[in-house]
Amino acid sequence: AKSRGRNCLQFFNQQIQKDAERHAELYLHLKSALSHNEFELYYQPIVNPFSGQIIKAEVLLRWIHDGQFISPDEFIPIAEESGLIVQIGEWVRTQALTSIIALQKSGYAIPFAINVSTIEFWTSDLQQRFLNYFDNISEALGGEIPYQLITLEITESLMMKQQSSISQLLTELRHRGMQISVDDFGTGYSSLSYLANFPVDQVKIDKSFIQKISLGARHEALIEAIVSMSRALDLSIVAEGVETEVELNFIKKQNIEAVQGYYFYKPMPKNDFFDLLAKQSRI
Ligand code: C2E
Ligand code: CA
Ligand code: CA
Ligand code: CA
Repeated sequence: AKSRGRNCLQFFNQQIQKDAERHAELYLHLKSALSHNEFELYYQPIVNPFSGQIIKAEVLLRWIHDGQFISPDEFIPIAEESGLIVQIGEWVRTQALTSIIALQKSGYAIPFAINVSTIEFWTSDLQQRFLNYFDNISEALGGEIPYQLITLEITESLMMKQQSSISQLLTELRHRGMQISVDDFGTGYSSLSYLANFPVDQVKIDKSFIQKISLGARHEALIEAIVSMSRALDLSIVAEGVETEVELNFIKKQNIEAVQGYYFYKPMPKNDFFDLLAKQSRI
């Protein structure tokens, strides 16, 4: 038994070593990913569950390195630790804004949901930089920023900071016309009391809740509670990760106004998304 314990420990040590090497290697390549044009935005439609009509799209970052897709769940944490997320975030917003404006010019005023890392709001300097970005980019984009077509998705951990400067920043962003959505809602801490105090417009029910819909009444009750609380606070609701008809039917029964998930569409490259919008408008 003793030698088995030792083997086990050795195995874990090797695993930790391997993870550290992978991490270091990714970090090295991540540093040059922007200048090497290795990022691409994918778009996942958000639809009205009753009509199937596309009402919005979430912008999702893809990193294609040496022909391989590296998952954002793997590289975003590395980008956050290293601070690279700030530049990457600005790149994402510039690409997304360029698409919003191009679509607008073609007659499709479709709102985009853009993920923002907590790190980007971490210090007052970064908060200022976040605001300045929009002022600086507007000229390059040819004038007015269509703020009313932008939803920023933040996570609950940001609200845990309870920093009045974050509240102020969110208030300013909303004042400009952007909407604030709380992503991965319900997965973080006790997400209730601060929701009433924070200036937000929407909650996005995390896919981990949606995936448990078929598992029974107790799981469904949890979603019902999130829905009624959100309604009481006058927040709109998006259900994320809807994959099956059973899940969709439950969402409809709750009268949730927006859904996102493989049942309707997977994230897709820009051209496919633009084609899809054009096709939908012809029906
Ligand atoms: P998220 O913001 O919660 O995004 C939703 C994730 O769920 C996406 O994974 C999406 O592809 C996936 N998804 C959508 N529908 C379904 C479904 O029906 N079933 C399942 N199983 N999954 C579904 P993705 O694209 O791999 O992104 C993972 C995470 O990486 C995102 O989670 C977000 O936290 C982060 N991320 C992605 N793009 C960006 C970005 O531009 N900036 C920042 N800061 N984070 C990003
Ligand atoms: Ca999101
Ligand atoms: Ca989410
Ligand atoms: Ca997530």
